[in-house]
Amino acid sequence: MSINENYNNILSLVQNAEKNANRSKDSVRLMAVSKFHSTEEIEEAIKAGAKLFGENRVQEAEKKFPSLVEKYPFIELHMIGSLQRNKVKNIVKFASCIQSVDRIELIEEIEKQCAKIDKKIKIMFEFHTGEESKAGFLSFEELKEGVKKATECPHIIPCGFMTMAPFTDDKDLIISSFRKLKDAAEKIKLEFSNLPLTELSMGMSGDFELAIKEGSTMVRVGTAIFGQRQY
Ligand SMILES: *Cc1c(COP(=O)(O)O)cnc(C)c1O
Repeated sequence: MSINENYNNILSLVQNAEKNANRSKDSVRLMAVSKFHSTEEIEEAIKAGAKLFGENRVQEAEKKFPSLVEKYPFIELHMIGSLQRNKVKNIVKFASCIQSVDRIELIEEIEKQCAKIDKKIKIMFEFHTGEESKAGFLSFEELKEGVKKATECPHIIPCGFMTMAPFTDDKDLIISSFRKLKDAAEKIKLEFSNLPLTELSMGMSGDFELAIKEGSTMVRVGTAIFGQRQY
C-alpha cells in the first residue's frame, strides 16, 4: 500500500470512529508521525492531504522540516518526543507546538527562547499514565504545577494534554491510561478555566480508535501511514 492509500485509509477509520462515538465530524485531527521517514515520504503524505506532522527528535526534525514548512506553508509540525533543554532553542524556530512538555524547567526554557525570537508557541502537558518509559509528569500535582507555571509565561499558549498508552494488547490497560489523561484534564480545566486547554492528544497506530472513543482530539499515527520504521 502506498502512503497515499494508507493516509486516506486511516483518515476514514478516524472519521468512522468519530461517528461511532457520536462525536462531530472533524473533532479529531490526524497527525502523521514522520520520525525516521524521509522528506520524500513526507511530501507523499502532504500530497495525500496530511497537514499535521509529528517528530520526536530535534536533530532529525531540523534536517527535514524548515525547508518543508517553507515549501508548504500550510503544514504544521509538533514536537512529540522527550526534549532536552539545550535543544529547545532550535525546535521553537519551526515547530508550532511542543506536546512533550514534562517538567517545569522545560517550560521556563521554552518561554525564554520564544521571548528571544518574539514567537508564541502552543504546548501540551505530557502526563505519565502507564507506559513503561518515564516520559511525562509523574503525578497529578506535578502536572498541575506545570500548568500553573505556563500561566506565567506570555509566549506560551497551553492548549491541552498528551499521553502514551502502554504497549500492550490489554485493552483495559490502554483504556484506563486514556481515562487517566481525560480525568486529569477535566479537573485541571475546572481550575484554569481561562486557558484554552481543549486538546487531548492520545492514540497511535495500534489504539487510535479506542482513543477516539475515549475523547481524543488528536491521534498520532506513524506506522499505519508510513509503514515500519527502519531504526
Ligand atoms: C512514534 C510515536 C507515535 C507513533 O507511533 P506509531 O505506533 O508508529 O503510530 C506516536 N506518539 C509518539 C509520542 C511517538 O513517539
